[in-house]
Amino acid sequence: MSSTSLHQSLQEEFGFDSFKGNQEAIIKSLLAGKDTFVIKPTGGGKSLCYQLPAIISDGVAIIISPLIALMKNQVDLVRSYSSKDDVAHFLNSTLTKKEIREVHDDLLSGRTKMLYVAPETLTKQENLEFFSDLKLSFFAVDEAHCISEWGHDFRPEYRRLREMMTQINPDIPVIALTATATPKVQSDIIKNLGLKEPEIFISSFNRPNLYYEIQPKIKKDQTIKNIVRFIVQMKGKSGIIYTLNRKTTEELADMLMANGIKAVAYHAGLDSKLRAERQDLFLNEDVQVIVATIAFGMGIDKPDIRFVIHFNIPKSIENYYQETGRAGRDGLEGKCVLYYSHKDVSKLEHLMRDKPLSEREVGAQLISETVAYAESGVCRRKILMSYFGEEYTEKNCGECDNCLHPKEQVEAKDNVVKALKV
Ligand code: ADP
Ligand code: MG
Repeated sequence: MSSTSLHQSLQEEFGFDSFKGNQEAIIKSLLAGKDTFVIKPTGGGKSLCYQLPAIISDGVAIIISPLIALMKNQVDLVRSYSSKDDVAHFLNSTLTKKEIREVHDDLLSGRTKMLYVAPETLTKQENLEFFSDLKLSFFAVDEAHCISEWGHDFRPEYRRLREMMTQINPDIPVIALTATATPKVQSDIIKNLGLKEPEIFISSFNRPNLYYEIQPKIKKDQTIKNIVRFIVQMKGKSGIIYTLNRKTTEELADMLMANGIKAVAYHAGLDSKLRAERQDLFLNEDVQVIVATIAFGMGIDKPDIRFVIHFNIPKSIENYYQETGRAGRDGLEGKCVLYYSHKDVSKLEHLMRDKPLSEREVGAQLISETVAYAESGVCRRKILMSYFGEEYTEKNCGECDNCLHPKEQVEAKDNVVKALKV
């Protein structure tokens, strides 16, 4: 397919004028029938790398996605682009028998170009047989880091994907996509998905439009006051507050409401209906703020989230990067503020007390890196990028607290530099 017609499809199907970053090269690799591995930060535009090829290819693409909430979000988006409801479907445990039959009919008719499935859907024998008889274009494995124990969201079912893809159709290409760039996770993905001589596309992990700041968290009340003041300043702009535990999400949401800020709490303890409702309230901007545990956010496509506040220190730099990465996906402003206290570090450590020793060791290592990041006087961007194996050579990024207001030489700094090797 020529570049001109790819651009034309981009325009016609998605209404975009140009490809973002290396999207075009990725799409060409997949359309050439090659296994393709895409490592691109959150907001980089990974979905389009399989959605556009799916639309212009013969047959249907099977897209494996880890979360049911994620699938619905994606399918709604695709449908809104194309204005054809049957262009994309999902199959998972939330559908009724009748709905499943309708999806099957659309698949058999050839109208459907994208089918989103959970890994569990693929393990069912009847589905395997049904899919084997369909004309398929390719497999896309989104959030592919879920296959690795070294990623931030391991899902054991992902380990069986290769076996199931082989059963369904061993001859079509696979595209794997992730925003996790650590070398261990990368090699796990290639190995476990059995990618054959994949073409690998790695993008820079710098997010130049994100502003990073660490604030000391001294008293809880004062911190909440500061947060309220901050959000009032961000009038009309959407944001996420991440907290460590479920109770705090409710507490904070109540406090915000009491201060005239529309907010909802979100955590895995709520039933799925309530979670979906609250997610929609946030996506549709009926509320300004969602106060959530890490249960919220993976793959949520809201391009104009303007701030991400961490009320507690995240459990790894990787988590921090992914969570802050949800801000400013449209390339515009995104403020990321982390409230840091030693007490929260102890809380995190305490949470691991019952885990097996090896897990505790990995956990402690990840926490100590995050602490070093929080206490550092070095450019935040430089530290984050070096964590992903990239070098940031600018002297001053101009978009983090340490570059804007350099600290006096603090004695912790040298240790930090050593710990993080930056
Ligand atoms: P990722 O999965 O890499 O985190 P998404 O696929 O969700 O990112 O895309 C992030 C945002 O970028 C979305 O709002 C999407 O519509 C937008 N986007 C993707 N490709 C383009 C493009 N070529 N031009 C403009 N916007 C794009
Ligand atoms: Mg994505």
